[in-house]
Amino acid sequence: PPAIRKISEEHDKVFVTGCMEPDTSKPRANAAFVVLARNKELDGVIQSVKSIERHFNRWYHYPYVFLNDEKFNETFKATIQNYTSGSVEFGLIDPSTWGFPDWIDPKVAKEGIAKQGDAAIMYGGMESYHAMCRFYSGFFYKHHLLDKYEWYWRLEPEIKYFCDITYDPFLKMIETNKTYGFTIAVKELKETVPNIFRYASAYKRVNNITSQGLWEMFVEPQPDEPKEEPDTSPNTHNLPEQILNGDPSRANLPPIDGEAMEGEKYNMCHFWSNFEIARLSWFRSKEYEDFFQMMDRSGGFWMERWGDAPIHSLAAGALLAPRDIHYFRDFGYRHTTIQHCPANAPSRQLARSPFLEATTVDEKKRKEEDEYWDSWDTPKENGVGCRCR
Ligand code: GDP
Ligand code: MN
Repeated sequence: PPAIRKISEEHDKVFVTGCMEPDTSKPRANAAFVVLARNKELDGVIQSVKSIERHFNRWYHYPYVFLNDEKFNETFKATIQNYTSGSVEFGLIDPSTWGFPDWIDPKVAKEGIAKQGDAAIMYGGMESYHAMCRFYSGFFYKHHLLDKYEWYWRLEPEIKYFCDITYDPFLKMIETNKTYGFTIAVKELKETVPNIFRYASAYKRVNNITSQGLWEMFVEPQPDEPKEEPDTSPNTHNLPEQILNGDPSRANLPPIDGEAMEGEKYNMCHFWSNFEIARLSWFRSKEYEDFFQMMDRSGGFWMERWGDAPIHSLAAGALLAPRDIHYFRDFGYRHTTIQHCPANAPSRQLARSPFLEATTVDEKKRKEEDEYWDSWDTPKENGVGCRCR
């Protein structure tokens, strides 16, 4: 994981870590939790809210914005308010930002989705999942309930924080001029994003964007052997033509072929976006919007199953620098089968916090703990913590 280590070592030793008395004396940031959820996920949402309240928000009382493509029912709304210590708003998602855009032929898109289902691509056959990924890629930050906020912290049903967060991460990010924060980086399932990198590279090339050092994190290192001949086989991914009602001119896409790849290959690495703390103005910038438009017009949100995580990550790769990114190595965080435990983080081998250094650690106990977390049911190569390889 040389790239991620580089971030850690060179750019990112700026935040204090948790487990101290929370300092709540400073005014809050202009920020909210954002939770997209369905009514049927109430139990999972309660689990998540309980966890973030217990480990952070009982001191800080940040507000919540819940979003849904259907109306939240009264049970959902009333129950959630029993668990939250900040104000809560519930928003309905505008149908124009959920589901097929008007320039797509729904019949073709539905066929494309069915094919992905037949191919057993994870969530590939689920139209709503495609809609969700597109919403989180290009629309959540435009929801009117978020207009007043400058920062967000994404929560999902069934997540768990297992360390106290005793400082305000928004204020820290502002202080240190960060834009995007993550706690886990993993590899994407290849079959969900066969062409995502072609389009992301094309965005960079067409807009003459030079990497500020983060793009390389997403590029597969080339073997030292002599390079293979470039792939000159016919273009096989005619996404726009397939989906644009026979009017490819509307897509306004650059030529995309083997040569356009400039020899670079996506390494599938991405920041796992079910946890995110980020600056909304970045998503609202012209550069991000242009990126989203190009990705969207390719049809990849439907004809492939592009997740919002690789979309956010590749946008960051194109538009941000390592110094803009913060790795929250001190946040213990788990969602489904993947977790980040601070004990496993590279920070253990790098700079340890003064607080940790000053504490008498029961080495035997710590070893047992480490073994426990290490043995936790997680595919290692799929990235416990931030090891993306
Ligand atoms: P996974 O984490 O990738 O397995 O996907 P999830 O099922 O957890 O979905 C990611 C996020 O989108 C979660 O916050 C879900 O609650 C939300 N989500 C997914 N599909 C829908 C949907 O159809 N409607 C709504 N309102 N939320 C959805
Ligand atoms: Mn989830």
